[in-house]
Amino acid sequence: ATVATAQIGVTGLAVMGRNLARNFARNGYTVAIHNRSYAKTQSLVEDHGDEGTFVPSESVADFVASLERPRKVVVMVKAGAATDAVIDELLPFLEDGDIVVDAGNAHFPDTIRRENALRARGLHFVGSGVSGGEEGALLGPSIMPGGTRESYASLGPILEKISAKVDGVPCCTYVGPDGAGHFVKMVHNGIEYADMQLIAEAYDLLKQGLGASAAQIGEIFAEWNTGDLESFLIEITADVLAHVDPQTGAAFVDVVLDQAEQKGTGRWTVQNGLDLGVPITGIAEATFARALSGGSPQREAARGTLAAATTPWDVTDRDAFVEDVRLALFASKVVAYSQGFDQIAAASAEFGWDIDRGAMARVWRGGCIIRARFLNRITEAYERDQDLPLLLADPYFTEAVAAGVESWRRIVSGAALHGVPTPAFSSSLAYYDGVRADRLPAALIQAQRDFFGAHTYRRTDREGSFHTLWSGDR
Ligand code: NAP
Repeated sequence: ATVATAQIGVTGLAVMGRNLARNFARNGYTVAIHNRSYAKTQSLVEDHGDEGTFVPSESVADFVASLERPRKVVVMVKAGAATDAVIDELLPFLEDGDIVVDAGNAHFPDTIRRENALRARGLHFVGSGVSGGEEGALLGPSIMPGGTRESYASLGPILEKISAKVDGVPCCTYVGPDGAGHFVKMVHNGIEYADMQLIAEAYDLLKQGLGASAAQIGEIFAEWNTGDLESFLIEITADVLAHVDPQTGAAFVDVVLDQAEQKGTGRWTVQNGLDLGVPITGIAEATFARALSGGSPQREAARGTLAAATTPWDVTDRDAFVEDVRLALFASKVVAYSQGFDQIAAASAEFGWDIDRGAMARVWRGGCIIRARFLNRITEAYERDQDLPLLLADPYFTEAVAAGVESWRRIVSGAALHGVPTPAFSSSLAYYDGVRADRLPAALIQAQRDFFGAHTYRRTDREGSFHTLWSGDR
């Protein structure tokens, strides 16, 4: 019989699972490993067996038997039906108190369903967001585990050990019950979409406003990476823009087809934003911008056909323009994050998750794709006020954005005049002006609704609901 010696198991040994298993082993854990097809299990031992102690198994029964109790099994397979298939195979061998961790990119309603089903069988199910791609999985990802607090007591220390660290603090913390971990990972990905779109718009503004080359713009991004904007995405943007295509000698970015693809987490985030009624315009515009870029029949029909009526962008003070773009980018980014944290707050209330938003910003500081200096400021904001209704209203962000509002307006209006599409910059500014407005034209919408549908309205001067008899007005 197999002796139970492993402290943690990983099933699903494609790029992510393989690297996660190596990360556990490198941190001194004895790791049970398993994959549907045995070849991947064997190759992991052959290629990296010297990095630590692996216990390979060909069958699910042996894999489960090789784990110390309560067993901790990390499932890292293709999200969707494969996750259910693997859970079903594990179930007959698991016992009370064992913990199944889904570290794939599951959609949070699936996680809620799976958690329910496993809880009914006396098991813990932990839907865990894992961000950082292949490299993060190996060297330290950002980890967002959900599930029961009880499971975190034994699982948490292991996950914290293998996570990224910033100032010695692990980029892993308990998020909340059932689907909370995967939800927060989903919003992380949505914010990633917004961040990438904003950076792409900044690049386009610099390109069109200054007529600058990719390499020149790369230098500007490298410079920005030394200030408030310092982040992984800005850093790799500088590297990408400096990269030369070896075949043509042209700037690499100039030979890449301009049609952005997506796997679906941005879409999930936007769908949920609509469900909860939270305006996440930055994430939505970023998701739609990818769709627009890929919608080639429409682009084909419009290119060279639709009137532009623009004038060339004659930027005279180049340094001032670069600074305007930088400040507009920072302000738009604050809006996108502010909206994303609103979405987390709304879902937390809706599903009873009690998510600590400051702690989420803390675990995003390292390991993940949106890691950035600026996340410290978000953590501090929620430490100042745990119930902060709007990140933009935190004194630090209020001031930081105020310093860039004029620049933001110059850039967005300039982009409109000169025909540079900036959906994320523009909608972020529109959100900013909307949310800070004394009075919105929503009053007129209420009146219209009452006119055609007797939907009633409330008044500024009296309590209660009112309906006007409009028939005499037509
Ligand atoms: P993947 O390509 O998504 O999935 C391949 C793995 O799933 C293989 O181990 C495969 O086994 C297994 N699998 C597929 N169908 C199965 C089934 N019906 N039964 C059992 N096993 C099955 O692998 P990946 O790219 O490493 O990603 C793994 C997970 O991590 C996914 O959920 C993905 O969304 C997520 N992910 C996260 C990040 C991140 O940055 N956090 C990055 C990439 C992926 P075989 O070898 O037998 O085919």
